Formats: sequence, structure tokens, C-alpha cells
Amino acid sequence: MTLDARSVPADALVDCDICIVGGGVAGLVLARQLIGHGARIILLESGGLEADSATQALYAGENVGLPYFPLDDARARYFGGSSHKWHIPLGGGRVGPRLRPLDPIDFEERDWVPHSGWPFGKSHLDPYYDRAQRVCQIEPPTFDPGEWDDQKARPQLRLASDEVETIIYKFGLRELFSQQYRNEVAQAGNVTTYLNANVLEIQTDHAAQSVTRLRAGSLDGHQFLVTARLFVLATGGIEVPRLLLLSNTVQKNGLGNQHDLVGRFFMEHLHFWSGVFFPRTPEIIRRMGLYNDIHTVNGVPIVGKLALTEKVLRREKLLNQNIQLFWQKMADPEKYPLIHSPGVLSFKEMCSALADFRLPTHPVDRLGQVLKEMPNIAAVAWRKVGRKIGAIPLLDGYVFANMTEQVPNPESRITLGPERDAFGQNRVRLDWKITPQDIASVVRTQAIIEKTFQGADLGRVYRPLRSEEPPGDLHGGYHHMGTTRMHVDPRKGVVDSNCRVHGISNLYIAGPSVFPTGGYANPVLTIVALSLRLGEHLEAVLN
Ligand SMILES: Cc1cc2nc3c(=O)[nH]c(=O)nc-3n(C[C@H](O)[C@H](O)[C@H](O)COP(=O)(O)OP(=O)(O)OC[C@H]3O[C@@H](n4cnc5c(N)ncnc54)[C@H](O)[C@@H]3O)c2cc1C
Repeated sequence: MTLDARSVPADALVDCDICIVGGGVAGLVLARQLIGHGARIILLESGGLEADSATQALYAGENVGLPYFPLDDARARYFGGSSHKWHIPLGGGRVGPRLRPLDPIDFEERDWVPHSGWPFGKSHLDPYYDRAQRVCQIEPPTFDPGEWDDQKARPQLRLASDEVETIIYKFGLRELFSQQYRNEVAQAGNVTTYLNANVLEIQTDHAAQSVTRLRAGSLDGHQFLVTARLFVLATGGIEVPRLLLLSNTVQKNGLGNQHDLVGRFFMEHLHFWSGVFFPRTPEIIRRMGLYNDIHTVNGVPIVGKLALTEKVLRREKLLNQNIQLFWQKMADPEKYPLIHSPGVLSFKEMCSALADFRLPTHPVDRLGQVLKEMPNIAAVAWRKVGRKIGAIPLLDGYVFANMTEQVPNPESRITLGPERDAFGQNRVRLDWKITPQDIASVVRTQAIIEKTFQGADLGRVYRPLRSEEPPGDLHGGYHHMGTTRMHVDPRKGVVDSNCRVHGISNLYIAGPSVFPTGGYANPVLTIVALSLRLGEHLEAVLN
């Protein structure tokens, strides 16, 4: 059943067994798993069935660290959550997310990765990963490249190396989450979904040992209370810590924050161009189909990428990362450098804004950056014009799109900022920080890839990264992880191995904020697996 919170009588008190806050990926999977299980479920969702700007504006916040997406654009605040943002074209008008589980090494405590280690290994999560693949409809569950390549049409690169290997990424369908599962939950007999219901405060007993009720409100001024035996926060990796920090009536630093961990360890996957590969012969290009484009095998859209083997990660103490190869006709960057400096990025934004008849974002700052970098702008402009008029020869190249794990960093964090939203609540402030180790690891990886490609006589590799400086085009992937990390020790994590907030008997967290490390894999498959696992646990707790 679905209700609109705006029609709930003011100050009403509604009761259930399990109250889930947030109807995005994690909340939907959890609610769907509990359909028909006897427990009375309430799902409180901030938005409605469609996006609306007033609700979306509740997500606005401040970025004070590395450049990041505007926070009200980095996630979606309506029923279905950020699944509405998935956009990768899969052919036939379909779009969907990239999906892959974490690797076994990602769960380990690694002596070269500070703060690493999950409370359990990958084998513990494997049965849930299998079920998650069923939920995402990307079975058969294997990710073994041998099961997904085609020896004749799309073979794996012959790398003759035990350092670099082919990996497979699968793609799911956005509609499963943004429509189908949403409808199933909305119609379920034992689940009541309240739309336009923003949770504003988590209230506890006087010792903050159990949650007593939630205060929810809609933007028209309605407020009501929800009691439950168990509560689950599934509002995403930025909004979960915000809600805990805002709920500071009893614990003055925020709920679950007795060890100052809530909001810390914000992690992203570091995305940037890390190199270019120029194949030696057209025959090599012809055989790159596995990596070139998304194609369907066994009924599932897939693509091949490259990653380091576990052996070399251990030997060289590197961070886990993968590389997607994007084909382009390009000017040789050895002669015509690829520049990703702030001035060049501003110049590009100004050009595309002009082409779209709109004002660029931050026009004054951007103009200042452009003026400071005129030689770079001239080189980039000549690169573009020279290509157009045929004055610069073009080569077949594959750009390396790098996606790497970030070292968990307590200084990379979410706090409450001074600005307020429409409910009068502090907006978030994101201070995304990385460490020199993050980039050094990619620099070393590129050297390994170059050696591997040369060893296999595949062609030339161009490596722009040489120092530990973050590259100018560094950006995230909308993956907000780590801000309520999981650890058995309350001094090292906000939630325990069952995703229950340490010290609070009936408060749980679903979603990427519980990841202690993020590997390189996009988070959704792991979010789904953990939500299925949490659903099982909650059923056991209730029985
Ligand atoms: C453009 C884009 C592309 C992406 N592509 C991929 C991809 O290819 N692969 C991948 O694995 N991941 C991808 N992601 C990331 C992925 O979508 C997120 O990791 C995932 O959605 C997180 O799930 P969640 O349930 O924790 O949060 P969300 O899906 O964001 O859901 C949070 C829900 O909580 C609700 N909510 C928030 N605050 C409140 C409140 N106070 N009260 C009540 N409800 C509230 C919101 O309205 C929302 O419905 C992408 C994200 C974006 C933005």
C-alpha cells in the first residue's frame, strides 16, 4: 500500500515492526525481500513517484575538498533513489548500471592499505552476491572471462603475463529498480510506503541505547512520528551520516558518533584518463571487440576491462583498480599533449556552454582560470582545429579510463555545514580528500601495463602520469562509500558486522556507507548483496 505523507493527520503516531528510511536501491531491495514475511513494514521515502525540484534541493550541500559534483546532482531524491540516474546505453533504448562484485582481496586487512579489512571474507558474501545477480537479472553468476569471451569474434587479449588480466563487467537494467521493484514494494500487502515523508530526526531513549521513534515531515509542514521494533537507514552514503549527525539531542556529537567516526572515511572510486594504447597493427584493433563496446552474451550486456592480478597487487602493494579501453581517432599525445589542467577544463566548459546557449557554471572563476593558462589553451585549441583541417595526423588509440580504489582516509569526510535546508536543518559539507598513495599506485600500475603490452608486442603505451599529483581530470563516480564503516570494534567502525549501529540495539544501516573499503567495483551489486543479507538478519531478529 502507498500513502502520501501529506495526508497523514498531523502528529499522528504510526507503528510497525521494521521501519526502512529511504526507497532507493538499498531500501527497495530490503523492503522487497521482506514482502510476505509476516512483519509489518513501513518505508519512508522523501520523494514522490517523479523528481521534483523542491525535494531534490534538500540534497544541496557544500564541496570544500577535491572538486566534486554538485551534491544535489550527485544522487536522486525520489522513490527509486539514485537508480533513476543510471544512464549507460545498452542498446535497444535500454540503459543500466555497471555491475561487478568486489574481489576477495578487497575484504582483507592488507598491511599496505591503512584501515582496510571487512569483518568477513568474500566467500561469506558469495551466496548473497549470487542472489544479488538474480535480483539484477545478470545471471549466470560467473564472472570468469572464459565464459563471456568469444574465441573467434571477441577474444581476450593475449597478454602472456601474470600481472594483468581481463575482467568482465555486466550491466543491469535501470527499469528493474526505477519501476518494477518500486511497483512490487508499493503494492505489497505487508509494506506501507509513505511518499513525501522526510525523516528529520531519530529519537532515542535517554541513554541512546535504542531508537524509540522517528520524526518525519513533508515539505507542506505536516509532521508525524513512526515507532518500530527495528529501524533501518537507507538514505545513501551522504544522507545516512547527515541524519545521524542531525540527531544529536541525546548524544551531542550525533547518534552512533561516540568515537567521532560518523561521516569520516568518505570514499569514492577515482576516475581519470591514465594512458593511451596505440595498437601495432589493424589486426590487433579488429580483435579488441571484447573491450571495445558493450555487447550481449548469454542474454546479458557485458564489456571486458583490464585489471591487475591479485599476485601483483600483493607483491607491489598496490590498490585495486581497473581500466576500460575507449577507442578514439586521436592526435599522438607525445607530440600534441593531452592537457587536463583547471584552465583547460574551464575552457571546455565555456565552449560547451556557448554551444548550448547557456551560461557556464561559475563564469567569473572560469574566465580567470582560462586567462591564466593561455599557452595551454592555445595548444588544446590547435589540437582540435589541426585535427579538423587535417593538419594533424590521427592514429587509432585506446584511452585508458582508470577507476581505482581509494585508501580509506579519516580526513575525507562529511560534516554538517552552516547552511540550512527548507526544514531548517544543516546541509552537508563534503571534504573529499585523497592521499599520495592513491595516485602513486596508479602511476606504478601504468608502468606494469606498459611493460605487459610491450611484452605481448601489442603496441605502444603512452603514460602521462608520472608524479603523485592528482590529475586535472580526477573525478568520482557518484559512489558515496565508507561514512558509517563496518567494523567489529566500535572504536574503528560505526556499524557491526550485521550493519547494526554499535551501542544501539535496534538501528541498522543499509547501503554503501557501511563499506570499510570500496575495491574498484561499482557499488550496486555489493549494496544489493548486503541488503539481502540484512533482510535475512532482521527476519531472524524478529522471530
Ligand atoms: C549518475 C549516476 C550513475 C551511477 N551509475 C552506477 C553504476 O553504473 N553502477 C553502480 O554500481 N552504481 C552507480 N551509481 C551509484 C548508485 O546509484 C548508488 O551507489 C546507489 O543508488 C546507492 O543506493 P542507496 O540506496 O544507498 O541510495 P539511493 O539510491 O540514493 O537512495 C536513497 C533514498 O533515500 C531517500 N532519502 C534521502 N533522504 C531521506 C530522508 N531524510 N527521509 C526519507 N528518505 C530519504 C532518497 O529519496 C532515495 O530514494 C550511480 C549513481 C549516479 C548518481
